[in-house]
Amino acid sequence: MQDENCIFCKIVSGVIPCHRLLETDSALAFLDIGPLSPGHALIIPKDHHENILDTPPETMAAVASLIPTLANALKAATGAGGINVLQNTGKVAGQLVDHLHVHLIPRVEGDGLGYRWKPKEYAGGEAEDMAERIVSRIKTA
Ligand code: 5GP
Ligand code: ZN
Repeated sequence: MQDENCIFCKIVSGVIPCHRLLETDSALAFLDIGPLSPGHALIIPKDHHENILDTPPETMAAVASLIPTLANALKAATGAGGINVLQNTGKVAGQLVDHLHVHLIPRVEGDGLGYRWKPKEYAGGEAEDMAERIVSRIKTA
């Protein structure tokens, strides 16, 4: 299923060109047009899904299945020492294109991209409460 207004659906169909890297029947990897580092790649499902909230598990698995092969090729091609795998779901998380995509961002020492986590702590009992709230909402197919 494609969305005629979606730029990544147009990439899948070839209406918009891209640098294709790897593909299967259901997933496609290509170079990001605005790379955070050389080799920055995106993996998308060929069907249109907005983000991880509406993507079926088997489609997500098809996308994820490209990660190891692509990551090794990126590392070899760029000399990267590591790779960040990033997925933005929702505007508040930085999602700009509403077709599910996973970023693979090659990293080298001194690339200046940084890595900013500011871990917080759960107070007593909060982790148990949170885990219970989440587990009670898990919906299985
Ligand atoms: P987001 O912020 O939604 O997680 O990331 C969207 C990504 O898509 C950005 O990194 C942006 O550079 C990339 N992008 C947007 N339009 C195009 C396009 O037409 N072609 C390619 N190859 N990448 C695109
Ligand atoms: Zn799409």
